[in-house]
Amino acid sequence: MTASKTPTSPLEHRLQAEVRSLNATVAEHGICPRANPAAWFAAGLTRRRARLLCQPCPVRTACLRAAVIEEALVIRTVGGSVHSLHGARGGLTGPARAPLVKEVLDAIADDEASRTAEAARGAA
Ligand code: SF4
Repeated sequence: MTASKTPTSPLEHRLQAEVRSLNATVAEHGICPRANPAAWFAAGLTRRRARLLCQPCPVRTACLRAAVIEEALVIRTVGGSVHSLHGARGGLTGPARAPLVKEVLDAIADDEASRTAEAARGAA
């Protein structure tokens, strides 16, 4: 069950550009793209294990930001929930990223709401 949704928020467009740039950095310098990525998505991954896996990586901050944005955009476009996030990214497990992903989703929703309100005021 997938429901495609065209991005409507200018913030969402900016985030898409940001995540493309961050992912290019992560692909080039991250350690897991060159290691055995299965370890980062192992069943029963703990917060401690996620932190240890990513600790030596030079692009942890960029990776975490990319993960959080990407996961928020996926939830908006194909559905899903912050409760289904999994795998270690940027040193955090899915459940540990969930509040950060929710912040991005809320920011996009706020941006959309303010644009809609502006448009309604303009039309009045
Ligand atoms: S921070 Fe972790 S998940 Fe991200 S690229 Fe580095 S090792 Fe991979």
